[in-house]
Amino acid sequence: MDPREEIRARISLREVVGRYVELKPAGRGRYKGLCPFHKEKTPSFYVDDEKGLFYCFGCKVGGDVFTFLEKIEGLSFAEALERLAAEAGVELPERPREKKDKDLYQINALALEFFRRQMNEKAQRYLEARGIKPAYVEAFRLGYAPPGWDRLTEYLAREGVPLEKAVAAGVLAEKDGRIYDRFRDRLVVPILDPSGRVVAFSGRTLDPKGEPKYLNSPESPIFKKRELLFGLPQAREAIREKKRAIVVEGLFDVIALHQMGYRETVAVLGSAFTPEQALLLKRLGVKDLYLAFDADEAGRKATLAGLDLEVVRSFHVRAALLPEGLDPGDLLLREDGKELFENALKNALSEVEFRFEEATRGVDLKTPEGKRQVLEALLPRLVDAEPFDPVAEALKALILDRLGLLPEALEELIARRRRRRGRKELTTADVLGASPSSAGERVLLLELDVIALLLTLPPETFRYWVRFVEERVAPPEGGLLREFFDAAREEHYDPRRVQQRLMDREEGAILFERLMLASPPEPPELERTLEKSLARLREGYYKKELEELKKSLAEGVSPELLQKIQELQQKIEAERRRYRAEL
Ligand SMILES: [Zn+2]
Repeated sequence: MDPREEIRARISLREVVGRYVELKPAGRGRYKGLCPFHKEKTPSFYVDDEKGLFYCFGCKVGGDVFTFLEKIEGLSFAEALERLAAEAGVELPERPREKKDKDLYQINALALEFFRRQMNEKAQRYLEARGIKPAYVEAFRLGYAPPGWDRLTEYLAREGVPLEKAVAAGVLAEKDGRIYDRFRDRLVVPILDPSGRVVAFSGRTLDPKGEPKYLNSPESPIFKKRELLFGLPQAREAIREKKRAIVVEGLFDVIALHQMGYRETVAVLGSAFTPEQALLLKRLGVKDLYLAFDADEAGRKATLAGLDLEVVRSFHVRAALLPEGLDPGDLLLREDGKELFENALKNALSEVEFRFEEATRGVDLKTPEGKRQVLEALLPRLVDAEPFDPVAEALKALILDRLGLLPEALEELIARRRRRRGRKELTTADVLGASPSSAGERVLLLELDVIALLLTLPPETFRYWVRFVEERVAPPEGGLLREFFDAAREEHYDPRRVQQRLMDREEGAILFERLMLASPPEPPELERTLEKSLARLREGYYKKELEELKKSLAEGVSPELLQKIQELQQKIEAERRRYRAEL
């Protein structure tokens, strides 16, 4: 058995979800609770333990036990697999990839040991000058990379590390076939992943003329800047406890703020805050998020980019701005440092205020041109807003007040912009309201209904009913049902595996929804239900064909074409009679 299958069979999804969400029985082996992936007051998050699926009707997140763990813990699929395999007692074949990663962690750990031992007076003097106390040098495991080109290289060689592997890990560099120490005469700060393993280093030059000021390990299979927050292992406890996080830009800013008592501080490693990083904080239960980026242009841009992230809307976000020209790192050396930072937090701007201030900076609000400019900057946030989005509502109120617009005019503007945004994606409303806008979409939904019905049947009857359907419809090439038939054959009519294959498709989310809504009828009823669904589906195929024929009418009318159209209309009528019979 495929380990993924075996794990799914051994582990109860309800049990795993139950560790994060309070679940209540909702009938027929289903459970419901408050969705952990979006804010809600009434439960729309469902778990079907038998099918091993979860789905949220609110935010449309769905999947199996692997997807759940990936999303809630911010893990990669491989990590989720590893964790669940350990829990289920399923042995995974060791993949060469993991072996390689293991080597990279070990090399980084060895390098850190070396840097720690090299810590000297020169580095200590630098730290003292910045006001960093020994306890924090310890907590963040700072070290020193000595000058020269081969100190670490020689050390690693003595430890039996293949040097090309140390190059892959990023602690050594290679140029024209020569391998040498990447970090030289630098204070080194180890960068840890959420599990506390060393994955990279950042080196601050101690030479006043040294370039660049900060040098980082290059990205590697274990070091992906977008997916890490510096200081997270050290900040985790405080973040959990306070349910708040402060995000800054610099590594030394983190160390300084921890020393000042803000142990919930972490740093981004590139300039912008990413969705992956937001998820790391979300899973620690963060409610209040402070973005304390520099007050300069780049910092303000980074703050705005952070606010634009979808996932950030589940936090209460504020932008904390220090007086221009001051970094949190500078505060350690100031008498009033703590006071300054506390004030920055206290006076932090809400998302609404920050956006408005950004949009109006240097703009004359009295001129029509100025108003237009401000609207242009703020409209995207209003156009993308969910209904009853509190930030969007507050922003609207502020715009009306400060720009002196009529409410109707603003609403009209937003509506027009929404229409212009082009065809929207298929939404739950379309699915449930069943008023899809074209024959193609309708066919897709009908196919999904049939597929969902088949997937909810007892596995041992799956083959029989798939064949039953196959004999009664001829789905067009490239469609979902055609792919379903192919997958069923290739997966030897194992419904679990077929479902897995379809989950990876774009329509996967709607399929979850359909699966959660579907309840298999009893056999005598089943055949009738299927016959009706198939009549609707055939009608859908004919209608789609008809739609295309009508399009070619525009290019010229021919008797053949009209004949075909008439035939199709008759076929459509026949199918209608079929599914309307016995109603
Ligand atoms: Zn949800």
